[in-house]
Amino acid sequence: MHLQLNEEQQFIQDTARRFSADELLPVAEQLDLGAGREPLLGNLKKLAELGFMGLNISADYGGTEAGSVAFSVALTELGRGCASTAVTVSVTNMVAEVIQACGSDQQKQHYLPKICAGEYSAAGFCLTESTAGSDPAGMKCRAVKEADSWVLNGTKLYITSAEYAGLFVVWAVTDTQAPKGKGITCFLVEANNPGLTIGKAEHKMGQKGSSTNEVLFTDCRIPLDAVLGAESQGFKIAVGELAGGRIGVGSFALGIGLAAMDYARQYITERQQFGQALSNFQGLQWILADRYTELEAARLLLMQAASRKEQGLSFSKEASMAKVFASEKANAACYSALQMLGGNGYSAEYPLERWSRDARITSIYEGTSEIQRIIIARELLLEIV
Ligand SMILES: Cc1cc2nc3c(=O)[nH]c(=O)nc-3n(C[C@H](O)[C@H](O)[C@H](O)COP(=O)(O)OP(=O)(O)OC[C@H]3O[C@@H](n4cnc5c(N)ncnc54)[C@H](O)[C@@H]3O)c2cc1C
Repeated sequence: MHLQLNEEQQFIQDTARRFSADELLPVAEQLDLGAGREPLLGNLKKLAELGFMGLNISADYGGTEAGSVAFSVALTELGRGCASTAVTVSVTNMVAEVIQACGSDQQKQHYLPKICAGEYSAAGFCLTESTAGSDPAGMKCRAVKEADSWVLNGTKLYITSAEYAGLFVVWAVTDTQAPKGKGITCFLVEANNPGLTIGKAEHKMGQKGSSTNEVLFTDCRIPLDAVLGAESQGFKIAVGELAGGRIGVGSFALGIGLAAMDYARQYITERQQFGQALSNFQGLQWILADRYTELEAARLLLMQAASRKEQGLSFSKEASMAKVFASEKANAACYSALQMLGGNGYSAEYPLERWSRDARITSIYEGTSEIQRIIIARELLLEIV
């Protein structure tokens, strides 16, 4: 693994950093306060134009073909500016990647250019249901094959970008007789399908600029060739794709943690108490040292997972290690940074309380910290020969 970024990765990181500071950060508070979707949708379009919606997608389909390391560093920079935008970019890239990995030629040619060019504002990932969260193989959503179409019925929960996604990857049970997890198939469903409706919007603690809704399928007819990958292989596809998605979540979690610590570091050099700058107190210096050390370790774990993915090596354990560590250390960083601002940290006049709320979900979605630890431990035990 190269610890230095190559020229292209550096360029992508610089571009993302500039865009984040110039375009995302200035509207992040507005989005958090519910000022409408326009600033988000405008920035998603610009990000697509800059090549951020298909970072790991072949140029043949309009992608940037920059690889997983570039994806990770880009997401960290976007996370610094606006977590709601970063999660949208992360999930959209994840959907593009699953189509590239498992789609037919026709599906790739039809959908990938639209995602990469921003013709769809975003793409959504419909796995979770009310009774199937950490255990998605327990899903109830059904798809039945008829002569000329599949008919989909069921409700998905907590779907990121549901209100403005143009395309959804949807998992449903197609073989009720198969053992658990073996009879699930994956489908591509366009948002304008009359059988698909967007349901209740979640009232969330953070990442309020990103929509999270129920998605309902009611006798939703989709063509026979809307199956993504082979029939009954859907669960395997989900597990594979979530591993890549975890690099995205860990990466922008790191960005939120860095934003919080950078803010607090500057603040303690300016704020005076006891006749001197707060940064003179060793009690705060040690917090600074510990949190930055943890965030740097998170960055290296993310690089390791992304680099293995890029090389075609197994990376599921490494992605889970990176996600659990980065998301938990980002939360710790936000907690410490807020503490370093004292009462101002708790006030909405300063961004620390928003970053703390935005960071919280990163250790829950795309597999909770507990589920990441299960994956890591399972692989560690399997490695014993
Ligand atoms: C804002 C937001 C956006 C989301 N976006 C999407 C999306 O785009 N697409 C999508 O499909 N889903 C999405 N989700 C769903 C998310 O992935 C799930 O919420 C998450 O996987 C946890 O599932 P759950 O909420 O049902 O919790 P549960 O599975 O009910 O878990 C509750 C608690 O029990 C613990 N637990 C569960 N099983 C075990 C075990 N075996 N051992 C130890 N502890 C365990 C969990 O870690 C957790 O702490 C989103 C959720 C939110 C809140």
